[in-house]
Amino acid sequence: MEKIAIFPGSFDPFTVGHESIVRRAIPLFDQIIVAIGYNSAKSGYFPLEKRKNWIIDIFKNDVSIVVDTYEGLTTNFCKLKNAKYLLRGLRTAADFEYERAIAQMNKMIETELETVFILTAPEHSFISSTIVREVIRYGGDASKFVPKEIDLTL
Ligand code: ADP
Repeated sequence: MEKIAIFPGSFDPFTVGHESIVRRAIPLFDQIIVAIGYNSAKSGYFPLEKRKNWIIDIFKNDVSIVVDTYEGLTTNFCKLKNAKYLLRGLRTAADFEYERAIAQMNKMIETELETVFILTAPEHSFISSTIVREVIRYGGDASKFVPKEIDLTL
């Protein structure tokens, strides 16, 4: 059976930290679906289509990476896609506490689902979409924190 993993997130915007987690997970799975979770009642900082097209561009040469969007429970999206693995990145102890609760909750909802964690590379441990948005909002240069395919000036 094909090993399919979902990498869920807001990716607002996708950062070099996210890219590194996906690239390091490529050898582990037959397919990784980078899944942008959205809430139709709340718009993000960058439009959903833009976030999606950026990620498609970043992985255009990686055949096992697919990009999709979903609304609602991540576990429902996993079922829909027949994915048995959730991929998440861990930066800090705070991430661990937050992720632990979500992973344990997801396991209660969907017993077949395993969450696989990859530890961030040290040079990415301070990078978050929230901080990148703050830098942009105040006119700073955030280009170092996002993959080169993302042109934040557009
Ligand atoms: P969410 O809104 O679910 O927190 P994010 O888009 O912020 O989604 O992040 C998606 C996943 O990527 C999470 O598992 C998060 O911990 C991980 N992540 C975010 N930034 C980094 C980073 N710099 N290094 C490694 N993992 C990261």
